[in-house]
Order: sequence, then structure tokens, then C-alpha cells
Amino acid sequence: MYGYFDPKGIRPCGWLKTQLKIQANGLAGNLNKIWPDVKDSAWIGGACEGWERVPYWLDGYIPLAYMLEDPEMITVAEKYVNTILDKQEDDGWICPCKPEERQKYDIWAFFLIGKVLVLYYEFTDSKKALKGLYKAMKCLHRYIVEERRIKLFDWGEHRWFEAMIPLQFLYSKHKEKWIFELASELRTQGTDYNNLKEHWKRPLNIWTQDTHVVNIAMMLKYESVCHQLLGYKLKNEAEDLWRHIEKYNGTAVGIFTGDECLSGLANNQGSELCSVVELMYSCEIIYAVTGKNVWADRLEKIAYNALPATVSDDMWTHQYDQLANQIACQIMPGPKVHFRTNSGQSHLFGLEPNFGCCTANFGQGWPKFAMSGFLKSRGGIIAAFMIPSELSTKIGGKKVRIKTETDYPFRMSCKYTVTADDPVEFTFKIRIPKWVIAFKVNGEEQKKSDYYKIHKTFFGKEEINIELITAPVLKTRQNGLKYLQYGALVFALPIEAEYIMHEYVKDGVERKFPYCDYELVPKSEWRYGFADETFEICEKEGDTYPFSSKNPRITVKAKMARVEWDYEDGYESISAKEPVSDRAISEARTMELIPYGCAKLRMTEMPKVKIKAK
Ligand SMILES: [Zn+2]
Repeated sequence: MYGYFDPKGIRPCGWLKTQLKIQANGLAGNLNKIWPDVKDSAWIGGACEGWERVPYWLDGYIPLAYMLEDPEMITVAEKYVNTILDKQEDDGWICPCKPEERQKYDIWAFFLIGKVLVLYYEFTDSKKALKGLYKAMKCLHRYIVEERRIKLFDWGEHRWFEAMIPLQFLYSKHKEKWIFELASELRTQGTDYNNLKEHWKRPLNIWTQDTHVVNIAMMLKYESVCHQLLGYKLKNEAEDLWRHIEKYNGTAVGIFTGDECLSGLANNQGSELCSVVELMYSCEIIYAVTGKNVWADRLEKIAYNALPATVSDDMWTHQYDQLANQIACQIMPGPKVHFRTNSGQSHLFGLEPNFGCCTANFGQGWPKFAMSGFLKSRGGIIAAFMIPSELSTKIGGKKVRIKTETDYPFRMSCKYTVTADDPVEFTFKIRIPKWVIAFKVNGEEQKKSDYYKIHKTFFGKEEINIELITAPVLKTRQNGLKYLQYGALVFALPIEAEYIMHEYVKDGVERKFPYCDYELVPKSEWRYGFADETFEICEKEGDTYPFSSKNPRITVKAKMARVEWDYEDGYESISAKEPVSDRAISEARTMELIPYGCAKLRMTEMPKVKIKAK
């Protein structure tokens, strides 16, 4: 339905550019200097991991480098991609393994590097990357379709649809039958998630591919990425799948629980960071392909809440698992940790808590979101997300520039400036989030709709000022608990934290400031409930970090009262799923809730308390 613009024409600005710079100066921008699995990867001739980690990292590093126009980072990206292409075998095989190991090599990484080469080509027009991609996919066709020497298994079997992204791209360049054949064969051999729905209704304490939260976050887009190449009719399966997973494993911030397999509805269960960024990417694609606004609303909720919450302000450390009610991030002693399939330190902020996949993969979140601000429609431009950025493109051969200036989601207004040097007729559509009560354009109230649409001949400079009108609301979760949402932001009660630093070396990997591990120990009371539903929005200056845990740009004053609330049975640093009672045990007092994305220790789901009559 919608298409992507050439990413070379998109420039992040404002807080989004600041966020991307923080990422570039943090872990994702420096893994090539400090982390053996990227620095000394087998992909570039080293002795370390030669599977998903370098392609995962490049998938975020490439758009970050080019969108920030950072010459040093661009040199690094070029070096990695060119080395990978230089090491490609004559028959097209591109992954680092010996010829005799090919049949045992899980080709999920093959799909992933294909996706990375497409991304690299989009930013560089590199003929070498295009040629390498063609050779690589042709080689895969030979192995899988012609000679049937590789059969999908494990990750490749469960993530088969990711190959559609490079294959669809190749097909747009070369209309050759083998591309379709390979896509069809992958579809035949790959997992059909529609058959697995029964497994998602009840969380298990065993690890399976079929309930793996990252696989599930990724697979939602399978129909969207298949339909063009394989000629599928879009049946809106993603919507059914989403609703089913959300019903049994949803959270307040739009992600699913899964540490790392689906973990139910409890607010004290974890969600893996890889699933956060993969869910964002799925929503981006599904929205672009189906044009259904609900996917854009879902994406905003995840991007502005779940993503910043699970990464430190400076983006040097991250969690493997985040919890909605996260009263502590402390190592769980003893053999039986609270998580279902992860270790007892999965919720620490660190270099690679639990496992290193998120370390490599989390970097795709912000840059890909930044690439999705504008979408192409037939005969026009969609302002899909109110993120500060600038688009330069051409319509009918004439230059058009659109600049989005906004502090959304911290503020509710946005200024679009459309500039056309020559008269050019097109439709400019601005997406309006579903939760608005009303909205104004240049001061005038409009009829509520999914888009504000202008069709005209643009010439010169034109400003369009949008103002969204909404109010803070309490929404209901499992066990009748409530959480507070205002616009795209979820607000949580912050808990003061003492940071305990751990610097150490494990399996040859060094944790050293600023990429060390931290335990977060609670230093303030967390057992509260909402005393009423009157809330006061406080807009603040904040500090240099858009999602600052110390000085958030927006807070909400709320009346809160203490309740009786225990720890989860058998644990000293995990809150029980619900309070003992929703009766207030203190007077109500005004407290400041901050964005979920800013609160590293927090209570998100709390009861609406019953106050004793005086
Ligand atoms: Zn991960």
C-alpha cells in the first residue's frame, strides 16, 4: 500500500538526532572496538562468533552511520561489508563456515546478511553489495531448491520469512524465476505459525522455538513480506495473530512477555529486548504494507516506552528482560530463578546480561524507526510518525522537502514545513493517532479521522501546525490493575535506585565502565495504588537525554496511596503480581509519575485503591 522513501533523503533532527547520537556514542556505536563477537568475528576473518551477531549489529550500525553522516562510522560500515563481500566464496556462499559445515550451518544468518546487504545498498548504491547479494541468494537456491542439500531447521526454519526481504528486493532488480522458486520453497519448509496458536495460551517453563518471543515478534510480518513476491492475498492474518498473542501474553507497553519464550500476562514477567526491536520492525513493515493505522499506534507505544525503558540513558548498557513492575534489578540467588527460561540476572543493565543476542541486535530500534517517519503513497507523501526529521524527495521530477519539528511524544504539537521550489501537485497526509480526543490544524479544530489530508499544488513554503488533544487515562490490565497512559506515553511510578557496578571478565569478555554490569537496588517505597483519576500534566525542560531517568521532559502528578503488597512467593526482589488488598493503608498524597521509558525501577500496573471513609 505504502512504500519507503530512499533513506538517503531522510535526515533525523531534534530529539531523535540526539537519541541517535547517544546510540552512536554508546554500546551499539562501539561494539566493533570492545566486543570480541563483533571486533574479532569470523565474518571478518577473526576467531569469534560467525553467525548472527555481526549481521545483527550491522543492521543497526549501517543506518545509524549514514543517517548521522558520521565519516568515521561510515568507514567502519564500509570496511565490514567489503570484508564480508571479499571473503564470499566463488560459488556465492557468504557465511563464515567450512564447505563441509554448510549443511549444519543454521542459515538464519544467511537471511540476515541478505537483509543487511539490501540496507547497505539503499544507503550506498554499492554495485558490489548488489552483486554479492545476487550471488549469495543464487547459491542458496542451488543448495535448497536445485540440489536439495540444505533443509531448513531451527532458526532458519522459524525465521524463513526474513529471506523474503532480500528476495523481494532482488526480484525488483532482476525478474528471474529462481527467486520466486526459492521464496516458495522456503515458505513450504518454514514454520506455519497459524498452527501454533494453541501453544501460546499458557506459559511454559521450557524453551521452545514455537513459543520463542523473538520468533513470534518477527513472524507477525510474514504475510506482509510474502504477499508481493508470492502473490498472496492479504488476509489480515497479522491482526488475528497479534490479538491472540496479546490476549494471553500482552503487556501495558504493547510488547509481549517472553524470557525468552511467551510468559503470560503477569506484570512481573520479563520481555526480551530482541523482541522489542523486532516487534517495532514488524509493525513498521505491516503498517507500510497494509496501511492500517493500528500498527502505527502499536509501534509508537513500543518505541516510546518499551525501547527506552530497557536501555540506560547513555545507551551503554541494556537489559535482556524488562518487567512492567520492576521493583529491583538484582541478581537472584539460588537455583530457581523467577524467570521461566532465562538466568537470574537477565534484568540487570549490562553488556550482555543472560545472552549476547540483544547486545548485537538492539541497535536497529531507533535508526529503523527514524527511517519510517515518512512513507510514500500513490501520488503523495504520508507523515506516518511525528518524529523530528526532514525528507527530501522528488514528485514528478520536482523537488519537495518536508521538515517535521516537534518534541512529540513529550509535547502534543508538531510543525510540518513543506517546501516546493516549483509548483507541484500531490497529496500530503498526516497520520493522527487513534487515542486523540480531537485535533487542530493551524488553530482550527478538525473532524476526528485517521489522517489529515491536503491535496493541492504546493509552491514555495507552507507551514502546517498540528495540535493533538488528549487526556491522561487509566487503562485496565490483568487482575483489574490499572496503568496510566497519556498520548503515546505510559507513565510509571519511579522507584529510586542505587546502582551497584560490576566490572569483571567472563569467558574472555571484559565488562568495564561504561560497558559494565549494574544491579539496581530499590531505595524508595513501591507499594502504591491510584487514589483517584485526577491527573496534572507537567511539561519540563529535561536534560540532554530525551528519555532521561533523572530529568524527564514530562511528568504526571497523581494522587497515590499506600497499599499492602508482598513479594512474589520465594523471592526478595520481585513484586507479587497483585497487591494483598486494594484498600488504602495511608492518606493519599500527590506523587510524580514519569514516562515508563525513563523509569528504570518502576511500578506500572497498580490498583485503584479504596480509601477508608473518615
Ligand atoms: Zn536477544
